[in-house]
Amino acid sequence: MKKIFITLFIFFVLIFLVPHDVFAVVSTQKDTIKILLVPGHDDEIWGSQYGNLKEADMNLVLATKIYNILKKDKRFKVYITRDVLGYTTEFTNYFSFHQPEIISFEENAKKNMQDKINNGSFVKKIEVVHNKATEDVALRLYGINKWADENKIDAVIHIHFNDYPRENTWAKGIYKGFTVYMPEEQMVNSKESTKLAKSIFSQISKKYIPSTYEKELEGLTPDQSLIALGSNGTLLKSVKSVLIEYGYIYRFGNSLARHQMYTNMANLTFSGLKNYFFGK
Ligand SMILES: [Zn+2]
Repeated sequence: MKKIFITLFIFFVLIFLVPHDVFAVVSTQKDTIKILLVPGHDDEIWGSQYGNLKEADMNLVLATKIYNILKKDKRFKVYITRDVLGYTTEFTNYFSFHQPEIISFEENAKKNMQDKINNGSFVKKIEVVHNKATEDVALRLYGINKWADENKIDAVIHIHFNDYPRENTWAKGIYKGFTVYMPEEQMVNSKESTKLAKSIFSQISKKYIPSTYEKELEGLTPDQSLIALGSNGTLLKSVKSVLIEYGYIYRFGNSLARHQMYTNMANLTFSGLKNYFFGK
C-alpha cells in the first residue's frame, strides 16, 4: 500500500515538474500540413476550351472536390485561391495591397536567376513549350508563390486540364492521359516535390493512363520554366509544388463521365498527398 502511495506521489510530482515547453514541442510536432490548391486560370483567361467546356471551370470543380476532402481530414489545413465568385478575399487583397512587393519579388528573382545562368551555376534546359503567361497572369502566379513562402505552405497543387498546340481545337485531338509536372532537379524545392509528384502519379495511374504526348515524357515531367513550380527560385525549399494536367480537355465532353472523373481524380490526388505526408 505504501509503495503504491509513493509511486503515485512521485508520478504527480513529475507531472507538475515537467516544463510547459515539453508540451509545446509535442504540439508543434502535431502541426497541421498546409496545402494550397490553385485551380488554374480564372474567369478572364480560362486556359483551354473545347466546345462550351472551359478549362478554368473544370479546374475549379476538381479543386473544390479536393478541397472538401482535405477539409474533412484534421491533419491538413487547406487553402484555395479562388471559388465560384472569383479569387477569394485573401488573395484579392494580397494581389492588390502587395502589388509593389510582388513586382520587386518577381524582378529580383529573375535578376538572380540571370546571374546564375551567366555564371554557369544554373543550366537552362529546353522543355515542353507552354503558353507564355501574360504579364498580369505571371504577376499573380508570382504573388501566389510569395504568399505560399510567407505562409509556410507545405505543398502547392496546381490543377489543370490541357490541350496541345494544334490548329482545329474544336475537333478532338489525338493525345490522351494525365501529366504531373514537377520542379526540375536544379530547383531548390525539387527533391521533395519530386517525391510528392511520384506519390500522386502512382495513385492517378491506378485508374488513368499517363500522357501519350511524347513531349510529356510519360506523364512525370520535370520543368524549370513554369512559375507554378517555383521558376526563378521563387518557392522556398520547404514549399513542395506540383502542377497536374489531369487530362486533355476534349476527352471530357460527356458530362456524366466528366463528373465521375472529377470524383476519381479528387480521391486519387488526396491519396497521393496523404501517402507522401503520412506514409502508406
Ligand atoms: Zn491550364
